[in-house]
Amino acid sequence: MSLRFNPGQTLLLDADDTLWENNVYFERAIASFISYLDHHAYTREEVRAMLNEVERETVRERGYGVSSFQHSLVTCFERLSTEPITPEKHQRIVSFSQSIREQEIELLPGVAAILPLLASRHRLILMTKGNELEQADKFARSGLAQHFTSVEIPREKNPDAYYSVCRKYELQPHSTWMIGNSPKSDINPALAAGLHAIYIRHPHTWVLEHETVDEAKYGQHFLELTTFAELQVHF
Ligand SMILES: [Mg+2]
Repeated sequence: MSLRFNPGQTLLLDADDTLWENNVYFERAIASFISYLDHHAYTREEVRAMLNEVERETVRERGYGVSSFQHSLVTCFERLSTEPITPEKHQRIVSFSQSIREQEIELLPGVAAILPLLASRHRLILMTKGNELEQADKFARSGLAQHFTSVEIPREKNPDAYYSVCRKYELQPHSTWMIGNSPKSDINPALAAGLHAIYIRHPHTWVLEHETVDEAKYGQHFLELTTFAELQVHF
């Protein structure tokens, strides 16, 4: 028998790769970038590993988002290219990240049908990290805003970010859940902050979000679901 929880829970929902596709666009842009770079000394995998390193540095300095990603591509190109970057080359690299900005929002399967049901029984708060303008714009374009009572866009989703949301909305850990696709940003810090967590795996989760899932403590619920639609079984 599966667990079913009472109405009146608070569900904190991640957005990118939980409600809508996101990382797959970055993966496409990266594939185009690596092909364009066409490096003769390094394999595609080696170039990708270097880009991952550059992205880690950029995120620390500039946070998440498309502008930050664009900066990473240019920096990676400069480090790997034997010749200086020309305005034409720069423009071409910018076009790879620009394609992400122009992307329509594609909701993941089940989201449009299940969210209204969840919203009728529980309180939904969007909890997405990243660039505030970019994330707010995607949320507005998603057509999902009506189902949420609030939106939180912290710079990082660490335990402090979860504690602070709990204080702000006076949330009780025993009835508060974080739902998302990232072990690093959604599951582990939420468990560390004493909340329940639901992990919905996405096949294209960004490599910088990978982490082993921590064990839930006594009294905490942790569930792993394969689709968003399965949420209706439990909530
Ligand atoms: Mg996500």
